[in-house]
Amino acid sequence: MIKKESILYRTHQAWKYHVMVLFNFIGFAFITLIILRQINIVRFIYLSDTELSVIGLTFMILGELFAFSIRCPKCKKRWWWHLLKSPTISIKQRDLRIQKECPLCGFIDDSVT
Ligand SMILES: [Zn+2]
Repeated sequence: MIKKESILYRTHQAWKYHVMVLFNFIGFAFITLIILRQINIVRFIYLSDTELSVIGLTFMILGELFAFSIRCPKCKKRWWWHLLKSPTISIKQRDLRIQKECPLCGFIDDSVT
């Protein structure tokens, strides 16, 4: 859940984060179907393993593209990319759902209350 005071919500970009989570979940579900079929729990799927994995990975890649489109309105830096390439920042700083300001320039969007 994204807090209303978070920078994602304040800059109207929370929906991109939600789409990323949804698409990753759908992609993971397709990959899980391959595993379930391999152990004979699911049999009714008429798509091949290759088709299932391509569909699943496509959803995951599309989800990441939505996440990469999240950017600071002031410094224009992409927050998701910054978090991925900065492995040393703390878990709290890493969570965009609770960030109140831009992790790079400190921008706080005061236009939303
Ligand atoms: Zn910024």
